[in-house]
Amino acid sequence: MAHHIVLLPGDGIGVEVVAAATQVLDAVGEFSYEKRLIGGAAIDATGGPLPDETVDACQGADAVLLGAVGGPKWDSTEAGRPRPEQGLLGIRKALSLFANLRPVKPLTALLDASPLKRDRIEGTDLLVVRELTGGMYFGRKERDADRASDENAYTRPEVERIARVAFRAARRKVTNVDKMNVLEVSRFWREVVLDVHAREFPNVVVDHMLVDNAAMQLVSAPSTFDVIVTDNMFGDILSDEAAMITGSIGMLPSASVGEEGTPGLFEPVHGSAPDIAGRGIANPLATILSCALLLRHGLGLSAEADAVESAVDRALEGGLRTPDLGGDATTDQATRAVLEQL
Ligand code: ATP
Ligand code: MG
Repeated sequence: MAHHIVLLPGDGIGVEVVAAATQVLDAVGEFSYEKRLIGGAAIDATGGPLPDETVDACQGADAVLLGAVGGPKWDSTEAGRPRPEQGLLGIRKALSLFANLRPVKPLTALLDASPLKRDRIEGTDLLVVRELTGGMYFGRKERDADRASDENAYTRPEVERIARVAFRAARRKVTNVDKMNVLEVSRFWREVVLDVHAREFPNVVVDHMLVDNAAMQLVSAPSTFDVIVTDNMFGDILSDEAAMITGSIGMLPSASVGEEGTPGLFEPVHGSAPDIAGRGIANPLATILSCALLLRHGLGLSAEADAVESAVDRALEGGLRTPDLGGDATTDQATRAVLEQL
């Protein structure tokens, strides 16, 4: 049976890059699509950023592909006005997406776009697995005139499920990143990761790193990592740091996943880019690479995912450059260049 994918193009260039990416999906498999509203487009049509039909459709899908939400049209500071970004937070919550996956693999043709030296990043192929729904960002917040605090708490099931995502994704090893020399929550986190490793994944190599050291190693020796697993706040910081290894916002894909058997959400890291929306010049590669993640982590189609990633790399080696990469290829031309390589 054809895999069923819900498309949430959203706003701005989201619409353009999702249309481009589905052409690439069609070149590697058979999929049925259902397009739904989210963000500003949904506010205009229904008054709210996340209609019930959208949530229902996503819950019944095998995977969800999202473009981007937001834009100046809906930027209002007026209290009580619906905001496009609420649609994104809402759908993450509705699908219980507790793991955010950010792969960092500099493409051969773009090695010189990185702020790091070429010989330092060559061979880098890592994945940051960030816990997305717990920890400090969601802990109890307190404040009085002279003191403020954010509780940093994790439960055993929360750590177990994120550890499993990391161990399943590992090819060589999992590096657990924490701050166990000073934080009790980190000591607990590390203990639970070790438990999951011993009980369920004894054949995967696991090592541990303090977050300050990990931040240093990411820029000094990025190719030594395979999968990094860490909590919400450390993951927020390290995934942006790791993203800069590749050096180009129009190229970065991401995945958010929940329990096995529930649909994941796949999207480019970039936003709706209102400054270039509607001109047909958006770089579709981040969304096309998000489709590779959708194939691999969402549908279990690894060979197809590899095919898409290497087609993107070869298209770039063949000289493909959209304006954000210093060239003049349109969204259509970029998409066709990838299709030709497939
Ligand atoms: P958000 O708050 O949704 O992250 P933002 O305004 O912070 O949005 P983007 O929408 O990602 O950020 O845009 C940042 C800059 O990068 C803009 O100049 C935009 O044109 C450019 N940009 C983002 N994505 C792309 C893309 N796919 N192709 C070309 N340029 C892009
Ligand atoms: Mg932004």
